[in-house]
Amino acid sequence: MKLANHRGRAVLVVPDGVLDIAAASAGRFGPDIQSVLADWVSFASWAAGADTAATSGPVDVADLDAVVPRPGQVLAVGLNYRLHAEEAGLPIPEVPLVFTKFPSSITGPVGDLELPTDQVDWEVEVALVIGREARRVTRAEAWDHVAGITAAQDFSARDVQLAGGAKPQFNLGKSFEGFTPLGPYLVTPDEYDDRDAIELECRINGELLQKSTTADLIFTVPQVVSYLSHIVTLRPGDVILTGTPSGVGLGFDPPRFLAPGDEVVTTVALAGRMQHVARRPERAFDAAAILG
Ligand code: ZN
Repeated sequence: MKLANHRGRAVLVVPDGVLDIAAASAGRFGPDIQSVLADWVSFASWAAGADTAATSGPVDVADLDAVVPRPGQVLAVGLNYRLHAEEAGLPIPEVPLVFTKFPSSITGPVGDLELPTDQVDWEVEVALVIGREARRVTRAEAWDHVAGITAAQDFSARDVQLAGGAKPQFNLGKSFEGFTPLGPYLVTPDEYDDRDAIELECRINGELLQKSTTADLIFTVPQVVSYLSHIVTLRPGDVILTGTPSGVGLGFDPPRFLAPGDEVVTTVALAGRMQHVARRPERAFDAAAILG
Protein backbone atom coordinates (compact mmCIF):
# COMPACT_ATOMS: atom_id res chain seq x y z
CA MET A 1 0.00 0.00 0.00
CA LYS A 2 1.14 3.49 -0.89
CA LEU A 3 -0.13 6.81 0.47
CA ALA A 4 0.47 10.43 -0.40
CA ASN A 5 -0.58 13.86 0.86
CA HIS A 6 -2.25 15.56 -2.11
CA ARG A 7 -2.89 19.25 -1.45
CA GLY A 8 -3.47 18.54 2.23
CA ARG A 9 -5.65 15.44 1.71
CA ALA A 10 -4.56 11.87 2.38
CA VAL A 11 -4.84 9.70 -0.71
CA LEU A 12 -4.23 6.05 -1.46
CA VAL A 13 -2.02 5.64 -4.52
CA VAL A 14 -3.40 2.89 -6.77
CA PRO A 15 -2.26 1.75 -10.23
CA ASP A 16 -4.51 4.11 -12.21
CA GLY A 17 -4.55 7.13 -9.95
CA VAL A 18 -5.36 8.09 -6.38
CA LEU A 19 -8.27 7.52 -4.04
CA ASP A 20 -9.29 10.27 -1.64
CA ILE A 21 -9.30 8.53 1.74
CA ALA A 22 -11.83 10.79 3.49
CA ALA A 23 -14.30 10.48 0.60
CA ALA A 24 -13.82 6.72 0.20
CA SER A 25 -14.20 6.08 3.94
CA ALA A 26 -17.20 8.45 4.27
CA GLY A 27 -15.23 10.61 6.66
CA ARG A 28 -14.00 7.83 8.94
CA PHE A 29 -10.33 8.54 8.09
CA GLY A 30 -8.63 11.75 6.98
CA PRO A 31 -8.60 14.05 5.16
CA ASP A 32 -5.52 15.04 7.21
CA ILE A 33 -2.85 12.37 6.66
CA GLN A 34 -1.56 12.94 10.18
CA SER A 35 -4.95 11.76 11.53
CA VAL A 36 -4.78 8.70 9.26
CA LEU A 37 -1.41 7.86 10.79
CA ALA A 38 -2.74 8.45 14.31
CA ASP A 39 -5.36 5.75 13.65
CA TRP A 40 -3.07 3.58 11.53
CA VAL A 41 -4.03 0.09 12.70
CA SER A 42 -7.76 0.66 12.01
CA PHE A 43 -6.97 2.47 8.80
CA ALA A 44 -4.74 -0.31 7.47
CA SER A 45 -7.41 -2.92 8.03
CA TRP A 46 -10.05 -0.69 6.37
CA ALA A 47 -7.71 0.03 3.43
CA ALA A 48 -7.07 -3.67 2.84
CA GLY A 49 -10.71 -4.07 1.81
CA ALA A 50 -11.34 -0.59 0.36
CA ASP A 51 -13.18 -0.28 -2.92
CA THR A 52 -10.62 1.44 -5.16
CA ALA A 53 -12.96 1.92 -8.12
CA ALA A 54 -13.66 5.61 -7.43
CA THR A 55 -10.19 6.85 -8.26
CA SER A 56 -9.27 10.10 -9.87
CA GLY A 57 -6.42 10.05 -12.39
CA PRO A 58 -2.71 10.25 -11.57
CA VAL A 59 -1.55 13.31 -9.67
CA ASP A 60 1.44 15.55 -10.26
CA VAL A 61 4.21 14.99 -7.69
CA ALA A 62 4.59 18.79 -7.55
CA ASP A 63 1.10 18.91 -5.98
CA LEU A 64 2.09 16.62 -3.10
CA ASP A 65 2.83 17.99 0.36
CA ALA A 66 5.16 16.41 2.90
CA VAL A 67 3.82 12.90 3.43
CA VAL A 68 4.13 13.39 7.20
CA PRO A 69 3.59 17.12 7.69
CA ARG A 70 3.36 17.45 11.49
CA PRO A 71 4.93 14.53 13.36
CA GLY A 72 5.17 14.76 17.13
CA GLN A 73 8.83 13.76 16.98
CA VAL A 74 11.51 13.54 14.30
CA LEU A 75 14.46 11.48 15.46
CA ALA A 76 17.52 10.99 13.29
CA VAL A 77 20.51 8.67 13.51
CA GLY A 78 23.97 10.02 12.69
CA LEU A 79 26.95 8.05 11.34
CA ASN A 80 24.88 4.94 10.66
CA TYR A 81 26.77 3.82 7.53
CA ARG A 82 30.37 2.66 7.88
CA LEU A 83 31.76 4.53 4.84
CA HIS A 84 30.01 7.73 5.91
CA ALA A 85 31.58 7.53 9.39
CA GLU A 86 34.95 7.04 7.68
CA GLU A 87 34.48 10.00 5.30
CA ALA A 88 33.54 12.13 8.33
CA GLY A 89 36.79 11.00 9.98
CA LEU A 90 34.88 9.71 13.00
CA PRO A 91 34.94 6.35 14.79
CA ILE A 92 32.19 3.76 14.20
CA PRO A 93 29.62 4.44 16.93
CA GLU A 94 29.01 1.84 19.63
CA VAL A 95 25.41 2.96 20.20
CA PRO A 96 23.13 4.89 17.82
CA LEU A 97 24.02 8.61 17.74
CA VAL A 98 20.68 10.37 17.81
CA PHE A 99 19.62 13.95 17.24
CA THR A 100 16.34 15.63 16.32
CA LYS A 101 15.18 17.68 13.38
CA PHE A 102 12.46 20.03 14.51
CA PRO A 103 9.13 19.47 12.72
CA SER A 104 9.07 23.10 11.53
CA SER A 105 11.88 22.13 9.10
CA ILE A 106 9.61 19.70 7.21
CA THR A 107 8.68 20.47 3.62
CA GLY A 108 7.22 18.77 0.56
CA PRO A 109 8.92 16.53 -2.00
CA VAL A 110 9.28 19.18 -4.73
CA GLY A 111 10.32 22.80 -4.36
CA ASP A 112 13.03 25.27 -3.57
CA LEU A 113 15.67 24.93 -0.89
CA GLU A 114 16.78 28.21 0.60
CA LEU A 115 20.48 28.24 1.49
CA PRO A 116 20.85 30.15 4.78
CA THR A 117 24.64 29.67 4.70
CA ASP A 118 27.22 28.70 2.08
CA GLN A 119 27.85 25.31 3.74
CA VAL A 120 24.56 23.51 3.12
CA ASP A 121 25.10 19.78 2.50
CA TRP A 122 22.90 16.91 1.30
CA GLU A 123 22.08 13.62 3.06
CA VAL A 124 19.63 11.16 1.50
CA GLU A 125 18.00 8.94 4.11
CA VAL A 126 15.38 6.23 4.43
CA ALA A 127 12.76 7.46 6.91
CA LEU A 128 10.50 5.25 9.01
CA VAL A 129 7.02 6.40 9.98
CA ILE A 130 5.62 4.90 13.15
CA GLY A 131 2.13 3.36 12.93
CA ARG A 132 1.70 1.74 16.31
CA GLU A 133 2.88 3.05 19.69
CA ALA A 134 6.27 1.58 20.58
CA ARG A 135 7.45 1.50 24.18
CA ARG A 136 10.30 -0.85 25.11
CA VAL A 137 9.75 -3.09 22.10
CA THR A 138 12.18 -5.85 21.16
CA ARG A 139 14.06 -6.03 17.87
CA ALA A 140 11.72 -8.82 16.78
CA GLU A 141 8.68 -6.62 17.41
CA ALA A 142 10.10 -3.43 15.90
CA TRP A 143 8.87 -3.70 12.30
CA ASP A 144 5.29 -4.28 13.53
CA HIS A 145 5.35 -0.69 14.80
CA VAL A 146 6.38 0.83 11.47
CA ALA A 147 3.53 2.05 9.23
CA GLY A 148 5.80 2.71 6.31
CA ILE A 149 8.88 4.04 4.63
CA THR A 150 9.44 7.35 2.91
CA ALA A 151 12.34 9.31 1.45
CA ALA A 152 13.96 12.04 3.49
CA GLN A 153 16.64 14.65 3.05
CA ASP A 154 18.62 15.64 6.09
CA PHE A 155 19.86 18.96 4.73
CA SER A 156 22.56 20.27 7.04
CA ALA A 157 24.25 23.66 7.38
CA ARG A 158 27.65 22.25 8.38
CA ASP A 159 28.95 25.54 9.75
CA VAL A 160 25.98 25.85 12.11
CA GLN A 161 25.87 22.11 12.87
CA LEU A 162 29.52 22.02 13.90
CA ALA A 163 29.60 25.41 15.66
CA GLY A 164 30.40 25.18 19.34
CA GLY A 165 33.51 23.00 19.08
CA ALA A 166 33.17 20.02 21.39
CA LYS A 167 29.45 20.77 21.81
CA PRO A 168 28.18 20.88 18.23
CA GLN A 169 24.63 21.98 17.41
CA PHE A 170 23.24 19.14 15.31
CA ASN A 171 19.58 19.92 16.06
CA LEU A 172 19.84 23.54 14.94
CA GLY A 173 22.20 23.07 12.00
CA LYS A 174 19.76 20.52 10.53
CA SER A 175 16.51 22.38 11.31
CA PHE A 176 16.49 25.47 9.12
CA GLU A 177 13.21 26.04 7.29
CA GLY A 178 12.86 23.49 4.48
CA PHE A 179 15.73 21.27 5.68
CA THR A 180 13.55 18.14 6.08
CA PRO A 181 11.74 17.20 2.88
CA LEU A 182 9.62 14.04 3.32
CA GLY A 183 7.90 12.13 0.53
CA PRO A 184 6.59 11.78 -2.03
CA TYR A 185 5.03 8.45 -0.97
CA LEU A 186 4.61 6.46 2.22
CA VAL A 187 5.10 2.78 1.36
CA THR A 188 4.16 -0.05 3.68
CA PRO A 189 7.07 -2.39 4.51
CA ASP A 190 5.34 -5.42 2.93
CA GLU A 191 5.77 -3.79 -0.51
CA TYR A 192 9.52 -4.47 -0.39
CA ASP A 193 11.02 -7.80 -1.43
CA ASP A 194 13.48 -7.25 1.43
CA ARG A 195 12.48 -4.50 3.89
CA ASP A 196 16.00 -4.64 5.36
CA ALA A 197 17.67 -3.80 2.03
CA ILE A 198 15.98 -0.64 0.74
CA GLU A 199 17.90 1.27 -1.94
CA LEU A 200 18.54 4.99 -1.66
CA GLU A 201 20.46 7.51 -3.73
CA CYS A 202 21.13 11.23 -4.15
CA ARG A 203 22.12 13.13 -7.28
CA ILE A 204 23.29 16.73 -7.51
CA ASN A 205 22.79 18.25 -10.97
CA GLY A 206 22.48 14.71 -12.31
CA GLU A 207 25.74 13.48 -10.76
CA LEU A 208 25.26 10.36 -8.63
CA LEU A 209 26.93 11.15 -5.28
CA GLN A 210 25.27 8.81 -2.81
CA LYS A 211 24.06 5.27 -3.44
CA SER A 212 23.55 2.48 -0.93
CA THR A 213 20.96 0.24 0.68
CA THR A 214 19.78 -0.10 4.25
CA ALA A 215 21.47 -3.51 4.27
CA ASP A 216 24.61 -1.44 4.96
CA LEU A 217 23.26 0.22 8.11
CA ILE A 218 25.45 -0.16 11.19
CA PHE A 219 22.34 -0.15 13.40
CA THR A 220 19.46 -1.85 11.59
CA VAL A 221 15.86 -0.69 11.58
CA PRO A 222 14.91 -3.20 14.33
CA GLN A 223 17.89 -2.10 16.44
CA VAL A 224 17.13 1.61 16.01
CA VAL A 225 13.41 1.30 16.74
CA SER A 226 13.97 -0.96 19.74
CA TYR A 227 16.75 1.22 21.16
CA LEU A 228 14.79 4.47 20.80
CA SER A 229 11.61 2.90 22.19
CA HIS A 230 13.44 2.12 25.42
CA ILE A 231 14.06 5.84 25.89
CA VAL A 232 11.12 7.69 24.32
CA THR A 233 7.63 6.45 23.54
CA LEU A 234 7.34 6.36 19.77
CA ARG A 235 3.83 7.37 18.73
CA PRO A 236 1.92 6.92 15.49
CA GLY A 237 3.03 9.56 13.02
CA ASP A 238 6.51 9.97 14.50
CA VAL A 239 9.40 9.91 12.02
CA ILE A 240 12.84 8.32 12.30
CA LEU A 241 15.60 9.13 9.79
CA THR A 242 17.90 6.11 9.69
CA GLY A 243 21.14 7.77 8.59
CA THR A 244 22.93 8.75 5.40
CA PRO A 245 25.45 6.76 3.35
CA SER A 246 28.79 8.13 2.14
CA GLY A 247 29.00 10.77 -0.56
CA VAL A 248 27.99 13.91 1.32
CA GLY A 249 29.72 17.18 0.43
CA LEU A 250 31.65 17.30 3.69
CA GLY A 251 33.42 14.06 2.71
CA PHE A 252 35.13 15.67 -0.31
CA ASP A 253 38.54 17.33 -0.16
CA PRO A 254 37.95 20.23 -0.43
CA PRO A 255 34.35 19.96 0.80
CA ARG A 256 31.50 20.60 -1.64
CA PHE A 257 28.36 22.45 -0.68
CA LEU A 258 25.16 23.47 -2.45
CA ALA A 259 25.17 26.64 -4.55
CA PRO A 260 22.16 28.58 -5.85
CA GLY A 261 20.69 26.78 -8.88
CA ASP A 262 21.89 23.29 -7.87
CA GLU A 263 19.28 20.58 -8.26
CA VAL A 264 19.09 17.87 -5.57
CA VAL A 265 17.30 14.66 -6.51
CA THR A 266 16.63 12.31 -3.62
CA THR A 267 15.36 8.79 -4.31
CA VAL A 268 14.28 5.90 -2.10
CA ALA A 269 13.07 2.69 -3.72
CA LEU A 270 9.25 2.62 -4.09
CA ALA A 271 8.88 5.80 -1.99
CA GLY A 272 9.76 7.85 -5.06
CA ARG A 273 11.88 10.77 -6.10
CA MET A 274 12.08 14.23 -4.55
CA GLN A 275 13.48 17.25 -6.35
CA HIS A 276 14.71 20.47 -4.77
CA VAL A 277 16.45 23.44 -6.33
CA ALA A 278 18.79 25.46 -4.14
CA ARG A 279 18.35 29.19 -4.14
CA ARG A 280 19.89 32.22 -2.52
CA PRO A 281 18.07 33.23 0.68
CA GLU A 282 16.35 36.54 1.13
CA ARG A 283 18.63 37.05 4.09
CA ALA A 284 21.64 34.88 4.91
CA PHE A 285 22.12 33.50 8.42
CA ASP A 286 24.77 35.58 10.19
CA ALA A 287 25.27 34.54 13.80
CA ALA A 288 27.69 37.37 14.59
CA ALA A 289 25.27 40.02 13.31
CA ILE A 290 22.32 38.44 15.12
CA LEU A 291 24.14 38.17 18.42
CA GLY A 292 25.68 41.64 18.13
ZN1 ZN B 1 21.56 12.55 8.58
